[in-house]
Amino acid sequence: MQFKELKLNKSILKAIAQLNYEAPTPVQQQTIPLVLAKKDVITTAQTGTGKTAAFALPILQLLFNRQDSGKKGKKIRALIISPTRELALQIQENFSAYSKYSNLKSTVIYGGTSIEPQKDVLRKGVDILVATPGRLLDLHKQDCLNLDYIETLVLDEADLMLDMGFIDDVRKIERLCPKEKQILLFSATMPAKVVQLANTILKEPETVNA
Ligand code: AMP
Repeated sequence: MQFKELKLNKSILKAIAQLNYEAPTPVQQQTIPLVLAKKDVITTAQTGTGKTAAFALPILQLLFNRQDSGKKGKKIRALIISPTRELALQIQENFSAYSKYSNLKSTVIYGGTSIEPQKDVLRKGVDILVATPGRLLDLHKQDCLNLDYIETLVLDEADLMLDMGFIDDVRKIERLCPKEKQILLFSATMPAKVVQLANTILKEPETVNA
């Protein structure tokens, strides 16, 4: 299979060609069409399988399809929750590379560092936000971000997130987003607690095991 068969627009195809991605990996082949069809998806995939692009590319495509005029500033329409700062940074680097030829803007927020510069970036407006759970809730409590326009929520490394004790934060974040939204859950393993979380927040999810 070729990337162009996945119905991605030219600006995305150009960016991935520059990264020398030749063909979609199995997890991308299976997950991308489901995300583009606006399904909730549970994908079991290890790091290194290309799982980040499996959600980032179709999210960019969906946002690209419905870009607003930008007159009233950008609204956060995709939110990716990641358990650690390092993973969050990697995800945002990927979004940044894939959206190089578009007007879509992404940023990353995480704890353990000064909050003020993050507030400044959020004030300027982003389409895609990658965040660790605690800092996201902090910034929300301080009224620095609006989650009312989220169309897609991604829970990445869900097993690790729950192992690190973020279950209550994740549930809180899910409830702060609009009821009508797409949820994508990625996990390296599927222990009972991840399945239970998925069962309570995802709607008729499709599953991918790549
Ligand atoms: P991930 O599993 O998301 O951590 O991705 C692992 C690595 O594979 C990253 O360095 C990506 O840039 C790279 N990658 C993702 N998709 C592809 C692809 N289709 N072809 C080649 N490399 C890829």
